Amino acid sequence: MAKDMLNWLRISHEPDIVIAQYGELKRQVPLLYTLLVLNACAVTYTHYGFAPFWATIGFLGALISTCCWRIFRWLRAPDTGEISVEVARAQLVSTTVLAGVLGAIFLVWSLLMNEYGGVEQHGHVALFIAATVIGCIFCLSHLPSAAMLVTAVVTLPYLVYYLWRGDPVFVAMALNIALVTGVMVRVLLNGFRGFTNMIRSKAELVREQEETQRLSVENGHLAYTDMLTGLPNRRHFFNRFEEWLQAAKTDNRQMAIAVLDLDRFKAINDTYGHACGDRLLVEVGARLSNFTSDRIILARLGGDEFGVLFADPPTHVQTAAQTICKALANPFYIDGRTITIGCSGGVAVFPEAGSTVHELFDRADYAAYHMKTYDRGGCAVFSFEHENRIRSEIAIENALVSANFETELHVCYQPIVCTQSGDVLSIEALGRWTSPVIGLVPPDRFIVAAEKLNIINDLTLALFRKALIEFSAMPHSIRLSFNLSTKDITSVPTLGSIIDLINESCVDPRRITFELTETAVMRDFDAAVRGIQSLRALGARFALDDFGVGYSSLGHLRRLPFDKVKLDRSFIENMDEPSGRNIFSGVLALCRTLELDCVAEGVETEEQLAWLADLGCQRVQGYLFAKPMPALDLAAWLLTHMIPDRGRTSELRIA
Ligand code: C2E
Ligand code: CA
Ligand code: CA
Repeated sequence: MAKDMLNWLRISHEPDIVIAQYGELKRQVPLLYTLLVLNACAVTYTHYGFAPFWATIGFLGALISTCCWRIFRWLRAPDTGEISVEVARAQLVSTTVLAGVLGAIFLVWSLLMNEYGGVEQHGHVALFIAATVIGCIFCLSHLPSAAMLVTAVVTLPYLVYYLWRGDPVFVAMALNIALVTGVMVRVLLNGFRGFTNMIRSKAELVREQEETQRLSVENGHLAYTDMLTGLPNRRHFFNRFEEWLQAAKTDNRQMAIAVLDLDRFKAINDTYGHACGDRLLVEVGARLSNFTSDRIILARLGGDEFGVLFADPPTHVQTAAQTICKALANPFYIDGRTITIGCSGGVAVFPEAGSTVHELFDRADYAAYHMKTYDRGGCAVFSFEHENRIRSEIAIENALVSANFETELHVCYQPIVCTQSGDVLSIEALGRWTSPVIGLVPPDRFIVAAEKLNIINDLTLALFRKALIEFSAMPHSIRLSFNLSTKDITSVPTLGSIIDLINESCVDPRRITFELTETAVMRDFDAAVRGIQSLRALGARFALDDFGVGYSSLGHLRRLPFDKVKLDRSFIENMDEPSGRNIFSGVLALCRTLELDCVAEGVETEEQLAWLADLGCQRVQGYLFAKPMPALDLAAWLLTHMIPDRGRTSELRIA
């Protein structure tokens, strides 16, 4: 019990409770001083003339001055939000001490007053003490230490004083007051316990709310972050895109978006495994994050696709996007391997390229796709040229879906010649489409459109059937090269139809070479290998087309069942530089090691031919010999170019 009481006399160390107590006191203590002044005024009034002047008016004056000063100090005291726990606690301690001192002064003054006047005055003093103590207990209910000190300092000496005086009425009054204040202190302590519990649970609630808030901020952050790279994710990207576009519209200024697509990422993923691919993406994310600022956002949109938002695009936004692409072209070092990828990008600028998020994104994406197809490693700004291309692509697609393949398609042939003998070794079949609506469409345009429309298989089969018919009338010494796309080599029904067409024709499958690009194989490596093997089983051969663009992976050359490699025209274009010739001879040496035949494409000059012959390249194809031509023209061409050598005048030699 005594320990309990001592505990109550102590001032709490819990910060929330100390601050709450201070807040309550700041409201109540001025009222307490007002109560003291009012009570003292009443006693002064009833004792005026009985007690000496200094003890009535003098004391009251001093009391009023002290109380006003204290009220003023409390009213000026800082609010709970502005005070530190230490200062608030010091204030509680000083209030407790002051309460004890003032209680003692009041007691001495009231007992002094009790020496003057008659019974009424004495009764008033008793009433004054009771009212003041009860008032103090009420006003100090949030500071039990002070309330109990006042009660103890006033009530106990007062009781002792009346017991000593021996007047039974006043003894009964003193006992009554002492008991009532005792009960009130008990009530106060109960109330204070409830108060502290309430403050504690309130503080706990605030802490829980803060924690919930923190978790929800964290969840929000996670919902907008790409877990692998730590960059903002697609959702965040499009939210900010919408915001920045609106702001640009409101302020009547430009903004730009870039779509970046990694080159060769899929090949790295396939060759070195997904774990390596993931680590590469993490490194890519780290490099990209260097370009982030509060006006530039870089995000991972998914897979190996990244997006950039420029709130204030620089004048040369293409150069800015190009700089980002170039940063990714420097080698990465992952698990002891040096990996080099590239990045192609497209930029769309508001308002030039479009006015909605959808339009701008699609156009940046188109420019990136265009760049990836025609000029890897670069970054293009969406332009009118692209716009026209999109329009013409749409026109091509519309015409192609309703095209009559029998009447509108035909095949042209371009010879492949031996550099040493000048013999025509084979002819490459190249599809041609003349639409009655839009006229002659280049193959790289209608093949892509047919792939997109998923009608490439029918188109390939129509061309192959025509090629076989025309080829069956050609000299037996010549081979036929025919181009297949990804969707052909991975489609089992199409492969079945190709085999049927070969069987129905009188062409020996061993005279046919199918050409496939590396990209075509990489889209679905396993299915492509199965397709290649099914046609090789008939005796047909396979050539890897356009080697030198795309992945150009030496690993693929080894792993794929190819018989030939067709070196892309870009090799020949660089042959007038020594480094170009060195690279070319390196590739030739590699093909020899792998026992693969090489065909150099795009030979246009005698000089190029001489270099190729010097380097030992035996098979060439290009405008120097002939442009692709229809079967009838080819027949005439062959007649004038056939070598009537060694007794054979009607047939060219089989290579
Ligand atoms: P490709 O398979 O690499 O075909 C060679 C392309 O290079 C042909 O373009 C040919 O005309 C061109 N070419 C040949 N020699 C020279 C030269 O000395 N200089 C220059 N500048 N170009 C030369 P073409 O016929 O426009 O075909 C373009 C591409 O379209 C082909 O590239 C091939 O990928 C695709 N393609 C053509 N026909 C078919 C087809 O029937 N099926 C499939 N899947 N793709 C085809
Ligand atoms: Ca080809
Ligand atoms: Ca080619």
